[in-house]
Amino acid sequence: MIELRGIHKRFADLEVLRGVDLTVRAGEVVVLMGPSGSGKTTLVRCMNLLEEPDSGHLRVCDCAFDCGSPRDRAGRRLARQARRRTGMVFQQFNLFPHMTALGNVIEGPRQVRQLPMSEAIALGERLLDRVGLSGKRDEYPSRLSGGQKQRVAIARALAMEPRAVLFDEPTSALDPELHAEVLEVIRELAGEGMTMVIVTHETHFAREIADRIVFMDGGVIVEEAAPEAFFTRPTQERARSFLRLVD
Ligand code: ATP
Repeated sequence: MIELRGIHKRFADLEVLRGVDLTVRAGEVVVLMGPSGSGKTTLVRCMNLLEEPDSGHLRVCDCAFDCGSPRDRAGRRLARQARRRTGMVFQQFNLFPHMTALGNVIEGPRQVRQLPMSEAIALGERLLDRVGLSGKRDEYPSRLSGGQKQRVAIARALAMEPRAVLFDEPTSALDPELHAEVLEVIRELAGEGMTMVIVTHETHFAREIADRIVFMDGGVIVEEAAPEAFFTRPTQERARSFLRLVD
C-alpha cells in the first residue's frame, strides 16, 4: 500500500530523514514513535507528498515516484492522485474556520470528487454520524471542542474515500480528557481494516492498536517490531532509553 525506499529529506542544513525504508501493507496499522525531532512528522508528510523527499523511491497506493527530479504533467497528476488516496489528519485539525462541520466534510467531495451537492451532503451526514457528531453538522469549528474538531477532521479525511489514512499526533493538541473520543474513532477504523500510519506518543494506545511499531531516531528507523515485543523487550538501546522516559 505504501512503500518507501531510501527516503532522504533535508531542510537547509538539517538532514531530517537519512535514508528511510518502510513498507505498510494493506489493512495494516503502523504506529510511528520516537523522540521529538526524529523526523516522524516529516516522514508521514512525505507519504502523501505534502513534503517532497530529496531522493528515494516512493510508492503510495499504486502511484510510484522517483523523488528529487522535477515532475512533468503526468507526474503532477499522479501526485494529486496519491494525495487523494491518502487522507491526512493533522495535530492542529486544520479545519476551514468559515465552514460548518458539514461544510468542512463535503468540501473535498464537492471540489475534488465533484459529487453533486445532494450526494455530498448525504455522505457528509453519514460520516458525521459515524464519528458521533450528527448533532453538530451546522456548527462552526469555533463552537466545537478540540475532540469534536478532530473528529470532524477525521470525517473530512474519510470523505475522500482514501485507501489509507495518515495521522500526525491526532491527540497531542487536546486536553487529556478529550483523547478518548478521538482514539475511539481511530480504533473503530482499525477494526474496519483501514490502513493507517499513526504518529503518536500515546504508548497505551499504540500498544493496543498497532500491528507494528516503527521507532525512529535521528532521521532513521532504529527498530521495528510487534507492539508486545517493542514495549517489553526492545533490542536497541535508543528505544530502551526512549521507553524509560515515556513510561
Ligand atoms: P515531534 O515529535 O516534536 O513532532 P518529529 O519527530 O515529528 O518531532 P519533525 O517534525 O519531522 O520531527 O521534525 C524533524 C526536524 O525537522 C526538526 O528539527 C524540525 O525542526 C525540522 N523541520 C520540520 N519541518 C521543517 C520545515 N518545514 N522547515 C525547517 N525545518 C523543519
